Amino acid sequence: MTQCLVCDHDVEPFLNFGPMPIANGFLAAEQVASEPFADLEVGFCGGCTMVQLTQLVEPEAMFHENYAFFTSSSAWMGRHFAALAADARARWLDGAEDPLVVEIGSNDGTMLGNFQEAGIRHLGIEPSANVAQAAMDRGVETWVRFFGRETADAVVEQHGRADLVLATNVLCHIPDLDGVLAGVSRLLAPGGVLVFEDPYLGDIVEKTSYDQIYDEHVFYFCLGNLKPLLARHGLEIVRAEPQGVHGGSMRYTVAHAGAHPVDPAVEDLLERERLAGLHEPETYVRFRTAVEASRDALVAELERLREAGVRVVGYGATSKSTTVTNYCGITPDLVSSITDTTPTKQGKLSPGAHVPVVPHEDFRADPPEVALLFAWNHQAEIVAKEAQWLADGGRFLVYVPRVGFVDRDAPLAATPQV
Ligand SMILES: [Zn+2]
Repeated sequence: MTQCLVCDHDVEPFLNFGPMPIANGFLAAEQVASEPFADLEVGFCGGCTMVQLTQLVEPEAMFHENYAFFTSSSAWMGRHFAALAADARARWLDGAEDPLVVEIGSNDGTMLGNFQEAGIRHLGIEPSANVAQAAMDRGVETWVRFFGRETADAVVEQHGRADLVLATNVLCHIPDLDGVLAGVSRLLAPGGVLVFEDPYLGDIVEKTSYDQIYDEHVFYFCLGNLKPLLARHGLEIVRAEPQGVHGGSMRYTVAHAGAHPVDPAVEDLLERERLAGLHEPETYVRFRTAVEASRDALVAELERLREAGVRVVGYGATSKSTTVTNYCGITPDLVSSITDTTPTKQGKLSPGAHVPVVPHEDFRADPPEVALLFAWNHQAEIVAKEAQWLADGGRFLVYVPRVGFVDRDAPLAATPQV
């Protein structure tokens, strides 16, 4: 039995995916022999209801100097962050005198660039040196380090307290969440707010999107499981806004308790979570059954395509795809290659399943009949990009929210499997 990372109560495991490689560990052929594996298992805390991994990979193994993900590689995410920055600025910085914006996990400065261009004081905290360098190259001030109590104190000492702290798709990655929130509590000015976004547990359960579960995602948040943790640090959720990004995320705005009125939508969302059973362990036992059914349906479809002689390639060498390929046993005999636009991944093999990652030019030069859409969370952007291929009869095989095809007759909505 594992102890909860948040409250020390016992965590009850509900789903074990078996041995997994590093989700973002795309590797060269000569590295295959020394590839590390660890069990990927997720559990529910009976004490505070937090859903979390039961075994952790050392952060240094995941977020190193060669960390491959650059936020700016997705134009769509760039627009999303620009909108977030504009909204947060209008809502929380209006009238503030020389405000300070701090971003935890600031990546290549895509978000903070919006503040930098507006002449607003800003500071990014980013542990991966290569992406942090890209941010500094564009003039976004960045410290290369992990965020916690000590970093928060150092920021306050050098720059003062923050009016706005941002964190997108980063808090769910940090095992010492307690240390991070203690740091946020110290860093925030009395009326300051933390605005953060992470994949939403309600969407993961509703859509059976089990590929959101991988080594980098230590926690799976909902309003209900964040509430007691935030309260311990004198913080509360004052706004919560569902987002379409990353297959279903939630944007939480958090402040010192009593500093701002709580939006009525917060209680409405909590009630929806209670009705969906998100705070009850039985829900996750049902989730496991749904995940197993999803895996079986996907493997059956891929085997049917192989027997019919249909060539299938993967689309999007995402961290999420590592969970799917390894859990479902999707090796090159089922999916011959994975197309991806990220230069650092091209020419490498996918973690564990060892499917070759090829440039997008290969997809254009030799279009497959079917593409397994690993980057399903960018479906709208990708369907628009591949409109001609779809018009010519190409089909995307998807598995969220259910196994089915997206084609010229059924764009955007997965048709039920026949
Ligand atoms: Zn707990």
